[in-house]
Amino acid sequence: LLQTHNLNKHFGGLHVTADVSFSLEPGKIHCLIGPNGAGKSTFFRLLLGEHQPSSGTIVFDGQDITRLKSFQRINRGMSVKFQVPGIFGALSAQQNLQIALQHRLDSLDLNAEVERLLDFLQLREVADQQAGNLSHGLKQWLEIGMAISLKPKLLLLDEPTAGMSPEETFMTGEIVKQLNAQGMTVLAVEHDMAFVRQVADRVSVLHFGRIFAEGTIDEIVADERVAAIYLGQSHD
Ligand code: ATP
Ligand code: MG
Repeated sequence: LLQTHNLNKHFGGLHVTADVSFSLEPGKIHCLIGPNGAGKSTFFRLLLGEHQPSSGTIVFDGQDITRLKSFQRINRGMSVKFQVPGIFGALSAQQNLQIALQHRLDSLDLNAEVERLLDFLQLREVADQQAGNLSHGLKQWLEIGMAISLKPKLLLLDEPTAGMSPEETFMTGEIVKQLNAQGMTVLAVEHDMAFVRQVADRVSVLHFGRIFAEGTIDEIVADERVAAIYLGQSHD
């Protein structure tokens, strides 16, 4: 579904994405892990078109999208939930979903879809509460709801479980697996290895901007080279 070829990004002298050639199979859940500062969020911004690469190409759904703007990529079926929140705190959870959906659906379908998402994301009981007052976990699920409102082919999640309890993290994994079962391909940046184990078909490790290792979760946790790059690192 998505391939990058020798993708590079420099910020001044800093080489943040280094020759990344990456391939994402359609229908899979792929997790991207790596120490703080490895370049994971930068790689996402390149995929979404928020940064232009210094060199290299990005192919999405068979087409070279390297020079396309973000909104053109979104129109072609990419969606993202970033590390920083993007909900309207003064509006209710339900209103936030309505806003995310309103340019896509007429009012009849809109209400049905909002209802469906409220149930799917377990937001029913807080539908009328101000989004800014929701717990951290509920805010994250609301954001996922907004990100999937466009029915993307590819959902990019940057640290979807950051700051969550183990129970919320597990629930997020179940949400992601259900979306995948409905046909959505998912690429998630993640630090929580329990989550990675719960959802990932495949795992890539980014280190100093390079793809350092790739495999199943079992192959990655058994890889002593990968363990070595994590030693002495803090992930909060
Ligand atoms: P984390 O796990 O902490 O979220 P990350 O793997 O997402 O880290 P990035 O946010 O991609 O890492 O940052 C990688 C490196 O690039 C860091 O050294 C960061 O300081 C640098 N960097 C990121 N964005 C910019 C920018 N706009 N200008 C200059 N340097 C940047
Ligand atoms: Mg990041």
